[in-house]
Amino acid sequence: MQDQSVVRAFPTAGHPQGSTKPDLCAQCELRPRLGALTRCATCVRVAAEADRQSHQAAESRVASKRSAREAEARAAAERQAALERLGEMYLQFAATPEGTRFLEAQHAELIGPRNDHEYVKAALARDKEREVAANEITVVSHMVEWGRNYLALTLRNDRDHARARQVSAILQRLLEAELRYHPDPHDKTTSADYAQKRTPKHEFGRTSRSRKR
Ligand SMILES: [Zn+2]
Repeated sequence: MQDQSVVRAFPTAGHPQGSTKPDLCAQCELRPRLGALTRCATCVRVAAEADRQSHQAAESRVASKRSAREAEARAAAERQAALERLGEMYLQFAATPEGTRFLEAQHAELIGPRNDHEYVKAALARDKEREVAANEITVVSHMVEWGRNYLALTLRNDRDHARARQVSAILQRLLEAELRYHPDPHDKTTSADYAQKRTPKHEFGRTSRSRKR
């Protein structure tokens, strides 16, 4: 019988000769097992080859990692050496007269200009104040009287005294101008009080002032 001759050619342990069912490879279940193994010669060879290849791949992974680490270490050492050379050159340069002059100029330039952060903060604060004033002012009036020019501002709510004080203080700050308060000549109680407390050296209204001058 054909089956029995194959079994004899690849004798298998645990299966006495003459078994009606020859032991087939556990993997392919096509070819007879190799000796005491559970797989056939082909499957064993294929598995060994795959194993060898994965081992080789792992080895080359390790090797490439190692070489990358080595390259990194080499680059770090080169950087360090370059920095040291640069430091030495810097010290040599700093010791020369022109080096001293250069470094002094650099230092003066660094401490000279205003701190950028402070400058930006102040600019932003000014912008914010300008916005507050701009939101309240609806009309800029330009008046000429006896050849003299006067500018006046009309506010969105011209009965809001507190807001008017805020806006006038902002403009005084932004324009770096003197603030002159002219109390209401028709309201002798509150405005006159405020005027005396806030601006003791105030001048009188525009009409009286222009009369005086
Ligand atoms: Zn097989």
